[in-house]
Amino acid sequence: MAGENRSPTVFTPSSMSELLELRRSKPQATLWAGGTGLMSRYYPYPYPLSRDIISLKHVPEMTRINRTERYLDIGAAATLERVLTVGHHILPPVLAKALRSVGPPTITNQATIGGNLCIPDLRLNLAAVLSLFNVQLELKGDLKHRLQTRWIPLIRLYRRDGKLMLQGTEVLTRVRIYFEEGNFQLFQQIGFPYQHPEEAVLFTVFANHGQDSVVDYRAAATFPSVGVFRDRDVESSVTSKALPLNHQEIRQTSRLLRRTLQEYSTRVSPIQLARTVRAFERSLILLNTKSVSR
Ligand SMILES: Cc1cc2nc3c(=O)[nH]c(=O)nc-3n(C[C@H](O)[C@H](O)[C@H](O)COP(=O)(O)OP(=O)(O)OC[C@H]3O[C@@H](n4cnc5c(N)ncnc54)[C@H](O)[C@@H]3O)c2cc1C
Repeated sequence: MAGENRSPTVFTPSSMSELLELRRSKPQATLWAGGTGLMSRYYPYPYPLSRDIISLKHVPEMTRINRTERYLDIGAAATLERVLTVGHHILPPVLAKALRSVGPPTITNQATIGGNLCIPDLRLNLAAVLSLFNVQLELKGDLKHRLQTRWIPLIRLYRRDGKLMLQGTEVLTRVRIYFEEGNFQLFQQIGFPYQHPEEAVLFTVFANHGQDSVVDYRAAATFPSVGVFRDRDVESSVTSKALPLNHQEIRQTSRLLRRTLQEYSTRVSPIQLARTVRAFERSLILLNTKSVSR
């Protein structure tokens, strides 16, 4: 068909209003941020269908990074490398580690915050680590034929099965991360989330502890093709105990984690289950070591 043989038209809006108008008038067009996900997963070359492309990177608001006393605001089309550079002294260490673990600069110089959160079928490093923080997302687009801006917590960007919940022609425009102090932070990438999502696990912890107790403990396990798992009972089973945890307490809490994970989703594979439980136990041992060395 003639339409399928033409090259895609690439639109490069240079203002937010132009971007939103294009998005409204061309709802089938592909939003193009860094293109690393699109080119490696969805657009094999030559691509059989021609779809218009809307590039996000020329809209100044989409790449701006602002800091206030309470939070960091990142435009969704800011590259991971730029966030690492601008946020050098202020990013929580666990977030900086997650960003660096995405890949070499050839990828992080292109890939964007929004692209990492909005890749349709994978939950990757940013969803994993940001699930531990108070994070608000700004979405703009046509909802019920009216242009709207709304803010949602990160958790509401995804359905329980991990799928994206953008509505209508919405675009993710800004990510707001509230600053918090945590003296125990951990990000662990086990396996290859991008190449083998059904085996990989992203395990993250953000905690505050003194010598004898943990006052705040948050942990998340991300299964790239399933979603992000966080469980209040598992977290409070750690905060309710004195430090250092003994061997039996570690066994008990990891049994609780295994049970809740089995209830969470049948799509978590046996290797992911085993990897998560091992990472969790290891993190508790590290927490013990850190508490006694204070
Ligand atoms: C070989 C390889 C391995 C990788 N391994 C990892 C890894 O282990 N962990 C990791 O975290 N990352 C990894 N990445 C990087 C990953 O591809 C990107 O971080 C991210 O998924 C895509 O970012 P992007 O900006 O290139 O988005 P694009 O490829 O441009 O877009 C991805 C999707 O998001 C949509 N989108 C983009 N921006 C928006 C927005 N603002 N609003 C709404 N929708 C939007 C697009 O339409 C598209 O569907 C890897 C990349 C490659 C090539």
